[in-house]
Amino acid sequence: MAEEKIICENCELEILSDSEFCPRCGIICIEEVFCSNHPDVEASGVCVICSEPYCEKCGYSDDLVFLCNVHDHYEVYEGMARVFGTSDEIEIHNIEGFLKDNGLHPFIYSRKSSPMHLGGSDYSLFRPSGDVKGHLINEIKLMVPCSEALEAEKLISEFKI
Ligand SMILES: [Zn+2]
Ligand SMILES: [Zn+2]
Ligand SMILES: [Zn+2]
Repeated sequence: MAEEKIICENCELEILSDSEFCPRCGIICIEEVFCSNHPDVEASGVCVICSEPYCEKCGYSDDLVFLCNVHDHYEVYEGMARVFGTSDEIEIHNIEGFLKDNGLHPFIYSRKSSPMHLGGSDYSLFRPSGDVKGHLINEIKLMVPCSEALEAEKLISEFKI
């Protein structure tokens, strides 16, 4: 049988026509899916981290991605979730290798910004040095596909012991 593809009406990702939900934005493609917490309430999306359907009270979508209340702190970008951040390049490459050895698909994202030589001596000490979510601006992020986020975090916690 040929695999038929459709385009997600929300994020335009190409997905299999028999997909129950879009793995990138969490929009539900089939009828009658109910919230994991409220069996009589229709789900409004599938959390891209845990792949469970939730209603609008138990989850939230900002149009780009649906996350349940438990996983709404994840930084998600283009179907990838941030599972670790550091300014230590060696550490992050070690963890990347470890996740790859375990069959995951990590990706290192580095913004490579260096504000220090822009501001000179009066580079503001009074401005917060983090971005909107409070992460360090020169943080190197380790991203994995959303569906691998929980497993990756578990592996990272084992790696760090
Ligand atoms: Zn989508
Ligand atoms: Zn979730
Ligand atoms: Zn619910």
